[in-house]
Order: sequence, then C-alpha cells, then structure tokens
Amino acid sequence: MQTHGGGDGRKQQFRERLGLLRDTAIHRQVKRHLPEGRWTRRHWIHASLFTTIGVLMATIVPGFSSAIQAPVSEPRATFALDLPELSASRLAGTAGDSWQVVRVKPGQTMGALFEEFGIPAATLHRILENADAKRALTRLKPGAEIAFDLPVTGGLRTLRYDLDTSHRVELGIGEDKITQRVIARETTTRTVVLSGKVGRSLNRSARKAGLTAANVNALTDEIFKYDIDFNSDLGPEDRFSVVVEQTWREGELVSTGPVQAATFTVDGKLHSGFRFAREGGKPEYFTAAGRPLKKSFIRMPIPYARMSSKFGARRHPVLGTMRMHKGVDYAASTGTPIMAAGDGRVQFAGWQGGYGRTVILDHGKGHTTLYGHMSRLGKIKVGQRIPQGTVIGYVGTTGLSTGPHLHYEFRVNGVHRNPLSVTMPPPEPLGGKELASFRTYTANALARIRTVENIIYADVGPEEPPAKATAVAAAKPAADKKPGAGKG
Ligand SMILES: [Zn+2]
Repeated sequence: MQTHGGGDGRKQQFRERLGLLRDTAIHRQVKRHLPEGRWTRRHWIHASLFTTIGVLMATIVPGFSSAIQAPVSEPRATFALDLPELSASRLAGTAGDSWQVVRVKPGQTMGALFEEFGIPAATLHRILENADAKRALTRLKPGAEIAFDLPVTGGLRTLRYDLDTSHRVELGIGEDKITQRVIARETTTRTVVLSGKVGRSLNRSARKAGLTAANVNALTDEIFKYDIDFNSDLGPEDRFSVVVEQTWREGELVSTGPVQAATFTVDGKLHSGFRFAREGGKPEYFTAAGRPLKKSFIRMPIPYARMSSKFGARRHPVLGTMRMHKGVDYAASTGTPIMAAGDGRVQFAGWQGGYGRTVILDHGKGHTTLYGHMSRLGKIKVGQRIPQGTVIGYVGTTGLSTGPHLHYEFRVNGVHRNPLSVTMPPPEPLGGKELASFRTYTANALARIRTVENIIYADVGPEEPPAKATAVAAAKPAADKKPGAGKG
C-alpha cells in the first residue's frame, strides 16, 4: 500500500506541515538508534544563525558569590556552599612512584593495555577469574581511568580502577592470591543554576555554561519546542537559565543530571518548564500551570520519512481497485525504527494478512494505532505497557506492499481517522496534591533562577527596561574537559 497520486505541490505542503508537526520528543528515542553525537539540523542552524557576537553571561554555581564584587541589596544566602578546589592534574602521579595512570582509549582492550605495560597475559587471566573484577573491567568505557602499580622489581603489584563515580577498587596482586579493596570516594551533589545568553549559537553558549548535550536537547526538543521556534525566534540577547544537579568528586565535575527546571527569556518574554514525576510515573516536563509539555500522540511515528500516501479514497497500488486508504503511508528505508505514537498497551504484535508484520497499540479512551508492513518487530510483548516513543518495530515491505514503507492507522472507537487531522486528546494536567507539591517546587526553582539572573543580568526587574548586562567572571570550573560531563 504505497504511492498514489496527489500533486507535488500538495505533497510539498504536507511535508512542510509535517516538519512543523513532527514531535521531536521522539527524536530523543530515535537518537538511541542513530550514531552518537549526531547533530540535528536545528543544532547546525543554532550554530550558524547568529552573526552578532553576544557575550556569554557567567555560569553561576553556588559559592560563587565571593567572586562578585558588586554590592547586592539582599543577602544571597543560597550561595553559601563553596566550590570544590580544582585538582590540577590527578593523572600526573607523584614523581618517582610506581603508578602508571592511563585513560582507556576507544577500542582499546584490557589485553592491549596489559601488553603495553609488559604485564604477562597470565596476570590478566588471574584478575579476570575474579567475577567482580571481570564485570568491572570488561565494562570500562573509553575515557575511564585505570592505574597500574608497577614496582621496579617487575610485575604488577596493584591494579586500580573506578567502579562508579563514588567507588574505586584496588586489586592487590599477590603471589598466590588477589585481594580486593573498595575505596569510597566522596562525591557531592549540588543543585546549580546555569545561565547564559544565546549569543551566536545557543548550542555553544549552553555548552559553555556547563549544560550537557542532553540538557540542550531537552531544552530545544522537549521543554520549549512548542513555545519557541529555535530556527527563527532567538536573538543573541535572549537568555536561558537552567536548574541541574551536578555531581562533583575531588574537584572534578563527574556528571550533570537532567534539566530540573528551565526558563527561556525570548524578547523579554519568559517561558518556563519543569521536570516532575506523577505518582508512580516517570519524570516528564510540565508548564508552570502543571500541564504536560508532551503531547498525548506524536503525529509521525517515524523519523525523517516522506509521506508517500495520504488518508482517503485512492486506487490500490497492488490490487488496482478503488478503495479507502485507511491510514497514512510513510516511505522510509527498511530498518528505520518505528515508534509508539503514544503511551499504550501492546494489543497485537505479529502477522496480519495484507498488513504483513503488524503492531496494534491500545492507548485507552478508545484510541488505537496500527503500524503495518514491518520488516521485524521491536522488543515488545502483547499486553506490555510501553511509553510514547518506544521502538515497536522497523520499516519493511511485508504483506501487500510495493516497497519499504510504514502504513500507519489511527482509530477512535474503532473508526479510522486521519492521523494528520484528527484532534488528539489533550494529556491530563496535574491536579490535587500533585499540583500542590508541583507548585511548591516550581516556586522554589523559579526563585533560585531569579536570584541568579538578578546577579548576572542587570535587567531582571519586572518592569525595568532591558539594560546592558555586566559580564561577571565565571566561577565555573571548566566542565567540558572532564569525562562524564557529557552524561545527561
Ligand atoms: Zn497504507
């Protein structure tokens, strides 16, 4: 069930419309299936759109108040914490000692590392006999730190590696046995407000402010995607402030958590979004009024596809007869991931006549979606509850189909509806107790953001006209050099 007529102009129009409608919340899911580090078109646009040089306003972390010389009218008690001291280089080791500290390179195996230091393979085999050590060492990611204690007398005396951000393991390699010592490493987690101006590139400014790539994606693809058109709305003076949790260890930023709360001031207008979990649910983003930012259905369950046949009467491409096309077709190459359009329960997953390999999801309140012609199914089971964006299968051309495409149907109480025009039910807003605790939390987060913005930007007052902000020396330790800083 593929291509059928329709003017090219019309198609173009639809394509543009789809581009606008495309719910990028799904992109997050898709990214798991795409090469890492891929930039979306939007990111490239961010990077190139603004030619005026904007000064990046300082990143604020608690404890930086000492760096501010300007007198402030109120006490800033929220900034009482001190910054951890920066260790210049923990990797240098002490002169004359026997430790060799290395970072695992991409593709580098333990065997290769041991060989590099001239340690016999037998030693590695002995170490790997320890199940804990084997598990940890075989999971070391590129950039992980590993240390070898190599005395002049030869051999390996101690092997040291990090179990997680707060635990380090030392294996004492004895003549006849290996002893294991787990050392707890103190980490501190602090909630910080990272703020900056868009400048020439939002992506660059945000990263400079200390936000991770995942944080930036959350801002552009989840939190503000309905309020701000990141392709055209932003100016260099627009600013963002983001509340995140940072985990520090021995003066190094080891990880930055997801965006907890964020504000974006565009042309003087404040937009905000907050991360909050309903009881028993996963955290999602909400507006200040407690409405979910996520739509209950994404319009297009497939990334980067071209609509090849729309909803309505048409001549069937295989059967040659006139009949209703009860869904929408998206041409895409075989293997393209297909996502659940909304949260739901798997009602059917298997072969269904002309539809070929098919998945049907039940979204409650009489809404079901169908996905046909799949080459293979995703890791889903009938009866399973899955969140929006879950990969349920992959594009194929099984059943009555002329080429690889997704046939997508949207039914309301059993009646086929055009997924591109049907009014989707709005997601449930927060209410009752949940709304009350949400309000407390958002008020708190906004107050923190406001305090920080008050310090860095001169124009924060509600009625004051925008004034030129004063650059403040950043008290932010460089986060971009640290491994693990990219985790969101
Ligand atoms: Zn179709």
